[in-house]
Amino acid sequence: MESGSPVHIADLAAHEAYLRRDPLVVALVELADVRTCLFVPLLKDDELIGALGINREQVQPITDRQINLVTDFAAQTTIALESTRRERQYREAQMALAHANRIATIGQLTASIAHELKQPLAAVVIDGGGALRWLARQPPDLDEARSSVERIIKHADRATHIIGGLRDLTKQNAPRAEVVDFNEAIVEVIALTYSEAVKTGVTVSTRLAPQLPRVQGDRVQPQQVMLNLIVNAIQAMSGSGGGARELQISIDAVPSEGGVRVGVRDTGPGLSPESLSRLFEPFYTTKPEGMGMGLSICRSIIEAHGGRLWAIPCEPQGALFQFTIPATRADGS
Ligand code: ADP
Repeated sequence: MESGSPVHIADLAAHEAYLRRDPLVVALVELADVRTCLFVPLLKDDELIGALGINREQVQPITDRQINLVTDFAAQTTIALESTRRERQYREAQMALAHANRIATIGQLTASIAHELKQPLAAVVIDGGGALRWLARQPPDLDEARSSVERIIKHADRATHIIGGLRDLTKQNAPRAEVVDFNEAIVEVIALTYSEAVKTGVTVSTRLAPQLPRVQGDRVQPQQVMLNLIVNAIQAMSGSGGGARELQISIDAVPSEGGVRVGVRDTGPGLSPESLSRLFEPFYTTKPEGMGMGLSICRSIIEAHGGRLWAIPCEPQGALFQFTIPATRADGS
């Protein structure tokens, strides 16, 4: 086999390996009822990567024509295996790249996320002190103390929400197939980016959809797209002049396309014809520290979900990025 040629054994029970009771060959003959067999090597660049085996339970030698047929089939099998392996490697590389891009995007937000977390924590301390004072009164004011504790729980929930979103986005998990609540997913991303928007003087308005079709897929990947679009919008506005800085985030059900549409609109400098035609190209960036990978990764994520991502220049200024994701059909596909 290692020489790269097919191995044809007309009768395994007459083979010297069987006669000297090689345990594997004995098992093949006596347990698996193999008599005539053919093994054709699967070769990739002269390297043996596997073999294709054909057995007969009776002694019935395989003709040269049949051996040629199986050899041709083995060559096709090698090509198919190789392309499956390449495709898997490509998918793995794409996932690793998407993960690296998420980490890089979140890295740009670290200072504002820390700030965003400090607020509920400081509020916990204030309300905790308040609760103690209400309890130390003579007689203790239990109603006020209870309100303080209820506020503490709300602040802690807010911090948990931020940390939860951060943990999901930074982990490198294999994509999951779950029912995604798009309203909830975007609220999490807005929580992570809110302080960055405030720091840049951007007002954020959000319009969620009361009723959305069922979308099944990975939750983190569309969140990564939302995160990229929102960070890009904030960065675009941070460089623009004194005009209003407004970020509008919307989610709609699109019955005509049977899915969900997310829009991120800013009032930044907008898109020049050159940038409009190159936005989604890998490594296209106009930022001094930019990598130019964000939008190209976003597009592959959305297309992998069967959706579309596009950009439109807005009047009098700014840009609108939108993506759609189809709903899950009743058969779950
Ligand atoms: P990066 O953010 O690293 O530059 P992206 O792929 O996310 O990479 O973006 C590519 C380029 O697209 C940006 O450098 C910028 O020129 C342009 N761009 C992206 N979003 C906007 C936006 N909201 N307004 C104007 N230009 C944008």
